[in-house]
Amino acid sequence: MKTKDTLPWQDTPAESERIVSAITRIASVLRSGTWQFATTEGLNPTQVDILEALRSRQTGVRLSWIAQHLGVTAASASDSIASLTAKGLIKKGRDSEDGRAVALRLTKSGQDLAAKISNSVGFAHEAVSGLPSSTQDALFKSLLALIGRLQQSDRFPEIRACVTCKYFAVNRHSDSETPHHCMLVDAPLSVSLLRLDCPEHDQAQTVVAVQNWRELESV
Ligand code: SF4
Repeated sequence: MKTKDTLPWQDTPAESERIVSAITRIASVLRSGTWQFATTEGLNPTQVDILEALRSRQTGVRLSWIAQHLGVTAASASDSIASLTAKGLIKKGRDSEDGRAVALRLTKSGQDLAAKISNSVGFAHEAVSGLPSSTQDALFKSLLALIGRLQQSDRFPEIRACVTCKYFAVNRHSDSETPHHCMLVDAPLSVSLLRLDCPEHDQAQTVVAVQNWRELESV
């Protein structure tokens, strides 16, 4: 029972709880945008995720990679891929690294449809881009740190992010604007340029990736 001595913030959940709640609500709003797009196009959300994942991988990927990337079972990925193939949005071909394996790629129709996906959450892009750039940088850095923590506890699927890439040199430069470096293109990187899904990504050793996450979190 509340008394006149009860402080108004006594029932406030812990900050960590409110942060998770905020992220969950944002994810749910974004999901509804994707759902609307999926429904209009006669797809399910996993199929939309597959189109999006294949969009930047024109050399093709294997089914097992898609399942792992999306954090779904191979059976679920296989069902969605069969449906996308029947719709003429995905084609199967030879894997460039292993001629006996099957690689999945988008067809021209698949590319065209995948290009429209980001419009389904255009309202969110607009909201984020309306924030001051310093806020965007801080938000991106905080989200990266959170992804890093989740990855280290095995609760987040592998991502082709700079932080886990063997070409990434964390805090290589003293310049606070561009402290990091991509050794593949030999160019300095600011936090705002760090990629979450780079086609050139090559997985770093686990010990290096963990160290990168720690260093990124500490500055
Ligand atoms: S190759 Fe791509 S993922 Fe790797 S460090 Fe360079 S930009 Fe980042």
